[in-house]
This record gives sequence, C-alpha cells and structure tokens, in this order.
Amino acid sequence: MSTAYELDRKHVFHSWSAQAEITPMVITAARGSYVWDDEDRRYLDFSSQLVFTNIGHQHPRVVAAIKEQADRLCTIAPQFANAERSEAARLISEIAPAGFEKVFFTNGGADANEHAVRMARLHTGRFKVLSTYRSYHGGTQTAINMTGDPRRFANDTATTGTVHFFGPFLYRSEFHATTEAEECERALHHLARTIEAEGPDTIAAIILETIPGTAGIFAPPPGYLAGVRELCDRHGIVMILDEVMAGFGRAGSWLALDLYDVVPDLITFAKGVNSGYVPLGGVIISDPIAETFAHRPYPGGLTYSGHPLATAAAVATINTMRDEGIVENAERLGREVFGPGLREIAERHACVGEVRGVGAFWAVDLVTDRETRAMLSPAGLNDVVAACKAAGVLPFSNTNRIHLVPPCTMSDEEAREGLAILDDALKAGDQHARA
Ligand code: PLP
Repeated sequence: MSTAYELDRKHVFHSWSAQAEITPMVITAARGSYVWDDEDRRYLDFSSQLVFTNIGHQHPRVVAAIKEQADRLCTIAPQFANAERSEAARLISEIAPAGFEKVFFTNGGADANEHAVRMARLHTGRFKVLSTYRSYHGGTQTAINMTGDPRRFANDTATTGTVHFFGPFLYRSEFHATTEAEECERALHHLARTIEAEGPDTIAAIILETIPGTAGIFAPPPGYLAGVRELCDRHGIVMILDEVMAGFGRAGSWLALDLYDVVPDLITFAKGVNSGYVPLGGVIISDPIAETFAHRPYPGGLTYSGHPLATAAAVATINTMRDEGIVENAERLGREVFGPGLREIAERHACVGEVRGVGAFWAVDLVTDRETRAMLSPAGLNDVVAACKAAGVLPFSNTNRIHLVPPCTMSDEEAREGLAILDDALKAGDQHARA
C-alpha cells in the first residue's frame, strides 16, 4: 500500500462519499488515452476522468504552454488585462454562435451556471429558474438545486426558486411516446404547461444541458431545443445551454449546440475548454445580456477569474484541437467505431437495453429485462465495472449505465481494444438479466 493511499485515507475528504467506505485508486502517471496506477498497471481511460480530458492526458503542447506561462506570469488579478485571458476569450467567443462577444471566466462548471443564472435574474428582473429532473449542473448551491439527480435531495433545504420538469428521453419516456416526434411534441407541451402553471412573468431562465451527460447521454429529438427557444422568446425567458460536459469536442462538434438549429442567450462551459489541466469554466454571453451590464456593474466575481495558467492552457488546447483535427476525430470515432461497435455488442448481451450517443459521448443503458427496461441493479453495474477494470479499462458509470467518454484524441485501435474489453465485461451484467 503506497504512502499516497495511506495519507489520502487519513487526510483527504472526498466528494460525494461516505469517507470510511471508499478505496480510491492511486494514479501515478497518465499519457494520451492511458493512466497508470501505483502498481504500474495500465488502464485505458474511457472516462476522461470526470469527462474532461478531451485532448488526452499530458498533451505536450498544453503542458508546454502552462510551463511557459508559469515562467512568464503565474497569476494576475481579474481587474487587470492579460494576454492569455484576452486571447482565450477571443477564441471561445469565436467558437460560439455569432453575437456572443463576451466571456466571463469562472473556476469550473458549477460557478459558471451560478453566474449564468445571476445574469439571467438581473437581466430579466425575475427569480425562478426551470431545469430538468434528468440533469447535473454542479455542486454549488444554486447549481445543485437546479440539478435533477438525487444528489440534489440533501441540498434542497435552501429556498432557490428552482422548478423541475421532464425533458425528452424516448427510451425512458415520461410521456408514453413511441416516436421521437411524439416525445418532442409532448415534452414541449409539458414545458409550456409548466411555464403557465409557474407564471411566465416569474421565470428568469430555463437551463438545459444541450445533450444531458451524467443523466444518461440522450440527445434531444429534432425540434425540441428550437421549441424551447420559441417558448423562451414568447415569455421573455433567458435560455441557458449548459455545455460543460457536451462542449469542446465531446459531441463531435465544437459545441453540442452546433448539432441543432438553436441559439441560446447564455452558454456555460468548463472541462474540455482546457481539458482540466488547470481549473477553468465560464459563461459566453450574448450581446443583449452583455449590454445589460455595460453601464450597470455586474455584481459578481472571483479572485481567479481568467487565471493566466488556466487561460494559457485553454489557448493551447483550442489551437491544438484545431491544428490536429481533434473534434473531427471525435465525430469520426462516434460514426465509424463507437456507433457500429456498440450496436453490435448490444445484440450479444441480454443486459444491454439501449446504446446511444454521438462523437466521444456514449451510454450503454443496462437492464435486467429488455422488454420492461427495468434498470440493472447497482450490484450488477458494479460487476460490469469491476470486470472492465480487471481487464484494464476505466469506464464512467452512473445508476444503471456505463458511459464511454474517452479522450477525443483516442485512436481507432484503442477504441476497439476498449470495446472488446467491454464486450467481455458485459457477460457479468448478463448474469443479472433475463435471457
Ligand atoms: N454542468 C454539467 C453538464 C456537468 O457535467 C458538470 C460536471 O460534471 C457541471 C456542470 C459542474 O462542473 P464542475 O464540477 O466543474 O463545477
């Protein structure tokens, strides 16, 4: 047992965990699509850690940019201008749709969502925020209240003005729909009724993950986001798209919203913007909302907003992703390797209910019965995860699902190697399913 492990168990208080019941894996090295543990075992990282190392581990250009920046200027307060921050903001606004000229930098995704909501509230003079039950928006107070998943329950004590609704998800439809078109129409009707019932004039914002990630990676049906846009326009509600997980290459496009004909009012980002090499997130602000704060001070800020090391890493990440065609690689991987490979695997396993995804963003929805779609138990999921790890693959798992969310730089060979290991590991899930 390594010193790192012993000291961790003695002193480190971990997120979302009962502290005495966890056994964290010690990671000692990482490169590209792989990480190594303290016994020098190598794992193919199909999780991108928490879905953020989009450019892979230790990309030399990003590491060099951080080192150069550290030599030149480690840190500077947010009230000053600084070359890396300015260039990162320019590159990020270039990635956004036309009419998004300004970027507010935060330390991560949760605070990006907190600030987006604050901007929406001040812009509209309203308070309520609508978000979906199947969502994750972060661990800070407003962000966890907007989050739909059960991690919200223990944090729901504060009055936050958050109202939840069901978004579209055909495989587990709340609307008894059997087609994408039906799901879309009924989900929009449900949202329209929710807005009416809550009082349109009380609602500042609707926040959605463009493609919900942690909740199960289910792309919205055609027309849904455009329908939400229409409802927002009709009622003067700010539309926030959370691109923290789905953005920066993950969905095989620079932003996931590029896959849809929709322009929101605020876009939040983090993770893939610099692959988490240094913490960074932010809000990309549409011109009318930016204008609200042209002569009225924005009442919010962070000591490390636009930190030079983080923004230097973002500049290097974005330029490298462009130069090396990394977003295109993610798109192709999804279309040529993960899509066909996972559909083939699904046919062989009684425990696979559905595979779905795009780019480097895939979910395997595990069931005990394909007819009823009853979810695989936590014990069944644990068995599949353990079999993956034993064979050298680190997957991301949640509820009854395995998510394949590797670096967008992954090679076809690595992807196929991981799929073969998953194929074998799913036999452990089949033991819990009706044949
Ligand atoms: N929004 C989405 C969609 C996320 O997936 C996450 C994190 O997983 C967050 C927000 C929160 O980001 P952070 O953990 O950087 O605060």
